[in-house]
Amino acid sequence: MKYETVIGLEVHIELATESKIFCSCSAKFGGEQNDHVCPACAGMPGMLPIVNKRVVDLGMTAGMMLNCHINRTTTFDKKSYYYPDLPNAYQTTQWFAPVAVNGTVEIETSKGKKNVRIKQIHMEEDAGKLVHDDWTNTTLVDFNRTSVPLIEIVSQPDLSSAEEVVAYLERLRSLLRFAKVSDCRMEQGSMRCDVNLSVRPEGSDKLGIRTEMKNMNSISAITRAIEYEVARHIDAIENGTEELVQETRRWDDVKGKSYAMRNKETAGDYRYFPDPNVMPVVIDDEWYDGIKATLPEFPEVKRARYIDQLGLGEYDADQLVESRAFCDCFEEAYAVCGNAKEVANYLISDCMNLLNKKQMTVDMLTLEGKSLGELINLVTEGKVSRPNAKKILAVMFENDINPAEYAEKEGFIVSNDTGKIEKVIAEAIASDPKAVADFKGGKEKALMALFGKCMKELKGNCDPQTLREMLIDAVNKQ
Ligand code: ZN
Ligand code: MN
Repeated sequence: MKYETVIGLEVHIELATESKIFCSCSAKFGGEQNDHVCPACAGMPGMLPIVNKRVVDLGMTAGMMLNCHINRTTTFDKKSYYYPDLPNAYQTTQWFAPVAVNGTVEIETSKGKKNVRIKQIHMEEDAGKLVHDDWTNTTLVDFNRTSVPLIEIVSQPDLSSAEEVVAYLERLRSLLRFAKVSDCRMEQGSMRCDVNLSVRPEGSDKLGIRTEMKNMNSISAITRAIEYEVARHIDAIENGTEELVQETRRWDDVKGKSYAMRNKETAGDYRYFPDPNVMPVVIDDEWYDGIKATLPEFPEVKRARYIDQLGLGEYDADQLVESRAFCDCFEEAYAVCGNAKEVANYLISDCMNLLNKKQMTVDMLTLEGKSLGELINLVTEGKVSRPNAKKILAVMFENDINPAEYAEKEGFIVSNDTGKIEKVIAEAIASDPKAVADFKGGKEKALMALFGKCMKELKGNCDPQTLREMLIDAVNKQ
């Protein structure tokens, strides 16, 4: 018999906010354990939560990017469960009126395009982190992550393969990074994925027994886990190797196997009820329209515009739309210099090299687009040589400098002073009579030694073609 796989995803994404969801503690990743904690996020009695408006802004932004309906009155609820990393013994989340509902995300795989329906996006707080210390055989709890704001994006069970899941996750990541909702870094845990999976005979409309794998945090692990689970389910159905039960399973990526963790809770187990401490959030037209106005162009719209209107090649356009920071810098620089190809080259090769050297990701680019455009103008006007432009770029990368002023100050302006060039050439010729003789004897390469010497003496501030012509002239006159 042939089977089809039915997969729904719950994706948790940490929001790019400065502070936590209900208090003013820092929401940043890292720091000493229990440094970002106050009585409110530690769940001390009598402390009241206050909603961080920025969280609602980003929740709405995410909803709009995924074509959702935004609930104009959105409320918070308590989800009760006990675990040592949850100081209140309940999570404040959204159940009855989540910020966004009924969206769609278009994905593309080898089988073509497909719409994945979004059931809802809700805002909630993260839990703390348990740290196991094998040395003392104890478990410690770090509350830094407690109350860090999350959105959870719940899809309908519209996905049917690992390939589709990967395409969906990559699409979410691209859209939400573009809208600056989150950096969506799976390896740092700012994007985590729960996979709900079942299989059924092809064409059947009845759902099979569903299992859930929680907190998957790498694309490759997700792919392997899905393939393993599908095979396990089919084996159980066909050969009766085990009895399938609805449960939560843990994926062990090293062993390449999933293990039963606990029976799947149902919504009833969590005793959801409205959190009386958090007031309903009412989104008026002004707020709604304000967020709508900040939405970025979708990456594929930008890509098409870069190719059709600015004349970029597909490769360059693809590289740029990988990152919003690159797109912003590209567009600012283009506005200044009007040379799309040059800007793309500087970003894709030189800036990328600088980022790699500093072990920074593309989103960490802080280069001012305006300054990059000005630097390119200096190069195309012949005022600064290309090698020197690279040196200036490396400085611009760290500091906000004016490239023209910097080039002037550091002696990087190309000299049109032929008297000076002639003097440097004369010195080079005098210092290396062998190179002169070799060149005149037919060894073309001998000129390079002289050329290099002159360029070095001129600090690269000379048009190479001019220097070459003047040099050949001078050597021939010897
Ligand atoms: Zn706090
Ligand atoms: Mn959740």
